[in-house]
Amino acid sequence: TRTPVNVTVTGAAGQIGYALLFRIASGHLLGPDVPVKLRLLEIPQAVKAAEGTAMELDDCAFPLLKGIDIFDNPTDGFAGANVALLVGARPRTQGMERGDLLSANGGIFKPQGEAINAGAADDIKVLVVGNPANTNALIAQQHAPDVPAERFTAMTRLDHNRAISQLAQKTGAAVSDIAKLTIWGNHSATQYPDIFHAEIAGKNAAETVNDEAWLADTFIPTVAKRGAAIIEARGASSAASAANAAIDHVYTWVNGTKPGDWTSMGVVSDGSYGVPAGLISSFPVTCQDGKWEIVQGLEINEFSRGRIDASVNELAEERDAVRELGLI
Ligand code: NDP
Repeated sequence: TRTPVNVTVTGAAGQIGYALLFRIASGHLLGPDVPVKLRLLEIPQAVKAAEGTAMELDDCAFPLLKGIDIFDNPTDGFAGANVALLVGARPRTQGMERGDLLSANGGIFKPQGEAINAGAADDIKVLVVGNPANTNALIAQQHAPDVPAERFTAMTRLDHNRAISQLAQKTGAAVSDIAKLTIWGNHSATQYPDIFHAEIAGKNAAETVNDEAWLADTFIPTVAKRGAAIIEARGASSAASAANAAIDHVYTWVNGTKPGDWTSMGVVSDGSYGVPAGLISSFPVTCQDGKWEIVQGLEINEFSRGRIDASVNELAEERDAVRELGLI
């Protein structure tokens, strides 16, 4: 029998956590034959709510779930973690300046990076979901100097999945016929969903759509503003689809991309495509044997170049701001 994989989830008592934990425990994160142990990390005020969720997890009698532990400090929460899903973050509240938002999150992600550095398992893989995800991932990564930088990633898979769905609806294709879509840059309103290399049943997607006005005025803003549209419609944020994307991100990282396809992940740049090295930016990546690799050699047209640069510039500004605040 396999040794259980230790999965740490922060913000476990939140909305995304509630949609996420049951799918981890039922085998969707790592695979239907991989036993897991959950380590739930919460702030002290939310520990009781996390205990309630743990009671429900018990009540599901998931065959793969080999244990649940709840913690209110990162040192214990990340001890022995093989996979860490960093969901809990300080949300932007009305009137909050960017510096305040980044400081508050620095106070969360710096100690978490240190705790991962000190006590996580050697094969630790980290996914940051809590916003601003790319920069929170950068802060944690910078405080984990003994962990290879490529183990820290930020989630743009929800944007990726949203873009696939929009493209399928526009063209009447099945989502399963769409491949090689890319989200570039920051998980923010500046993100750039790129269909110029995407394929629909093997044919180039941009040529199939052949409508640059739709691309610029409908597709890109619809994908970028989808979260706000869902809050407007539901009266609550897009927690289930965010949890689903976190599951997809880790599953793909661990189990690989399909031949002839790639996915989008926020990963540490090596300077590819003019993205300054060290920034955690979304790229097209393939995954194999638990490792990701940036897809190389794609031609970037003028339309894409300006949009990638704008989003990457925003990432560089966020990095400079957290540097000035002494958070990295
Ligand atoms: P959610 O579970 O709804 O969201 C958690 C984080 O995910 C937020 O930063 C949110 O960003 C982000 N996020 C990323 N993508 C999406 C998306 N598509 N839709 C919605 N959110 C997205 O928040 P809750 O407030 O319900 O729960 C947060 C929990 O985290 C609380 O229980 C709190 O106690 C805990 N927490 C734990 C910490 C820790 O473990 N140290 C630290 C801080 C909080 P955005 O706000 O921009 O939507």
